[in-house]
Amino acid sequence: MKVNRVMKSAVAAALLMTAFALMAAELGPVMDRDEALARLRDGNARFVASEPQAWNAGSERRQELAAVGQHPIACIVTCSDARVPPEILFDQSLGDLFVVRLAGNVVTPEVAASVEYAVEHLRVPVVIVLGHTHCGAMQAALEAGDRETAGPMGALLARLRRAIESVRAKGFAEAELYEAAINENARLGAEELLRSSRVVDEAAQSGRVTLLSAVYNLSDGTVQWQMQLMAAVAPAKATPPSARAEIHADETSKPPQVSAVKNEAKPQRKAAEEPDTYARRHR
Ligand SMILES: [Zn+2]
Repeated sequence: MKVNRVMKSAVAAALLMTAFALMAAELGPVMDRDEALARLRDGNARFVASEPQAWNAGSERRQELAAVGQHPIACIVTCSDARVPPEILFDQSLGDLFVVRLAGNVVTPEVAASVEYAVEHLRVPVVIVLGHTHCGAMQAALEAGDRETAGPMGALLARLRRAIESVRAKGFAEAELYEAAINENARLGAEELLRSSRVVDEAAQSGRVTLLSAVYNLSDGTVQWQMQLMAAVAPAKATPPSARAEIHADETSKPPQVSAVKNEAKPQRKAAEEPDTYARRHR
């Protein structure tokens, strides 16, 4: 029957289209990493200015995502804290971010596997480990000290303790430990991704993926990007408190800027320089 043939070819064409759609979803469009970073920076600036764009999360967008697949512009590992929702603080929409969240944004093997998936199959150009100020998980780890904690909480606190021990070893004063450990934990998380995942490491080394750590400031809404991070940075006593306050004030007044991590000697650096700097440091 002619009608049957027409129907069969229509079905075949639909199957082919679906296959192509799935392939496209698998490979994903590779957005330029600087463009992706700029979108995140601009989005955070809109968030800080309380001028978010209208969310593109209507039924049309949902159907498009369901049919074509996800093409996130970045993978973000961050804390479960209800005050740190990446889509909101980067002013992104449905399908824009591949997010891995757990208390203290620690990088466990399962987290690294999730990031691997985003890098290898979704072809994200940017991976960010995002800590945040006032992190309750880090506070708990500080309060626990060397005391062993039973159960899964013990495993989480043990991971966070590494950051605390690291900043102690670098000479930070007790009063500075909390903030310093939050920064350090994000940096160590990025390092752990490189160390534990060959896929992430190769993508970062080849320049296909920009791997950064950053800290979100709950009070002013800014994301402070860490480039050279704290490894090469002396404790706060190397930077007078007044200078640190100035850097902080500058960060809040210029939210779109990629600003240097506190305690870093060089206060400003362009975003485009971050990836190479980071990659070089880990070669
Ligand atoms: Zn937290």
